[in-house]
Amino acid sequence: MSDDDQTLGITESKEYATGDWYAEVCRKAGLTNYGPEGMSGFIVARPRAYGLWERVQGELDARFKQTGVQNAYFPMFIPESYLEREKDIVEGFDPEVAWVTHGGHDELEERLAVRPTSESIIAPYMSQWIRSHRDLPLRVNQWASVVRWEATETKPFFRTKEFLWQEGHTAHETDEEAWDETLTRLNQYEEVYEDVLAIPVMRGQKPDHDKFPGADTTTTVEALMPDGKSVQGATSHHLGQSFADAFDITYYDEDEEERVAHTTSWGFSWRSLGALIMTHSDEQGLVLPPTLAPEQVVVVPIWQSDTKDEVLDYAEDVVDDLEDAGVRVELDDRDERNPGFKFNEWELKGVPVRFEIGPHEVEDGEITAIHRPDGEEVTLDRENVADAVQDELDTVYAKLFASAEENIEENVRDADDRAGILGTLGQHGGYVRTPWCGEEDCEDAISDQMSAEIVMVPFPEDEEKHHENVLEGDAECAVCGDDADETAYFAKSY
Ligand code: AMP
Repeated sequence: MSDDDQTLGITESKEYATGDWYAEVCRKAGLTNYGPEGMSGFIVARPRAYGLWERVQGELDARFKQTGVQNAYFPMFIPESYLEREKDIVEGFDPEVAWVTHGGHDELEERLAVRPTSESIIAPYMSQWIRSHRDLPLRVNQWASVVRWEATETKPFFRTKEFLWQEGHTAHETDEEAWDETLTRLNQYEEVYEDVLAIPVMRGQKPDHDKFPGADTTTTVEALMPDGKSVQGATSHHLGQSFADAFDITYYDEDEEERVAHTTSWGFSWRSLGALIMTHSDEQGLVLPPTLAPEQVVVVPIWQSDTKDEVLDYAEDVVDDLEDAGVRVELDDRDERNPGFKFNEWELKGVPVRFEIGPHEVEDGEITAIHRPDGEEVTLDRENVADAVQDELDTVYAKLFASAEENIEENVRDADDRAGILGTLGQHGGYVRTPWCGEEDCEDAISDQMSAEIVMVPFPEDEEKHHENVLEGDAECAVCGDDADETAYFAKSY
């Protein structure tokens, strides 16, 4: 990032030009570059962004490993004949697949797909590895990138043609176990969104016509962005027996009967970083929760020539204490920059807490701490700083979560007819909750008028948790008036 970029700061409005503002934050906070000319939709994740991904990855990976998942790695290419074995996958991904036709100068006998997702190359190996019920459950995960030649507009992290993700693939004896697995992973996604990214999410399932190709059920966590659009945060699929049938994933049960396994797959991508940046950042730049920030605290000493030594000594001691306590801390003792410049720069970079230390603080044995999200100033006692800072970091996290939660709570509205759905979405964005008959035509009737869709149908057991049930009495579909037995959440989405 050039200094010019920094001095300029963020110029776009988050509220009125969200897309431009988002692009500016990604660029000026040193997160991304766009791919080379002719490769639109590809991005470079610069070290600051990749560091965030590594932390998110670490959080998820630890949860997976605690719950029986092992990591593995499969080739990035899938022979066309493999892809064709599960017909829904071919149809579903066909328009987005990138193909390799040559190796060096020679044309290949069989085209190779660059994986858009890896069920078709992992399932054949699962089939080899699984012989008996004793081999089940089998759970593998890979951290990889996949390629989908997206037709819709791309946006750094939210939708890119190549993206980093993890994809988990499991096989089980029974349908029930596969469903439990699907929910275990969905719960872990929810936990990482809420406890690490400071983004509350809603859980549910996709309408049947919007499921992952070949899946029985696709479950999702959805997050609401400040501009009123929903983001599909991650998905966990109950694949039933379609992949196991297509790829012969069978096992012998205790009675030596051959049975077809039940499989799942689940994926979480760097779209989560898009949601993170979009949710918390502001017109001063990036805002990061302390859980992910590369620097949780930046210490900015403020001196005149006659106070420099004592201020710097004091600041260095504070930094030592924080480091000893395991806090990620940076001392900005650059001579050539004034404090105001440093404040702006660290704000742009999203550091959650800034310590200001000048002669007054030294004299009083104190530290002035400033919270990045709202500029709140707190005076800390020098003696207990290592403990006190933890409270400040927790408070910053809680502030970020609370403001995202407020956004979601204020933006779920009910409608019981077509005009109500369209009017509410048009005026406010957010989610519109409505009784639905389950027919795709009724979703199309809305999508044809406005780029909005059913982003999820809550699980019956969660419905009470989020909001009271709209399906009281003889509910009727808001669009066609037929009997409704599901609640649809309509939203515009990323
Ligand atoms: P899927 O395999 O289609 O269920 O995708 C798994 C998850 O990856 C989705 O829930 C999205 O959060 C994310 N994802 C899908 N497509 C993209 C993309 N083009 N760029 C970034 N993330 C994506």
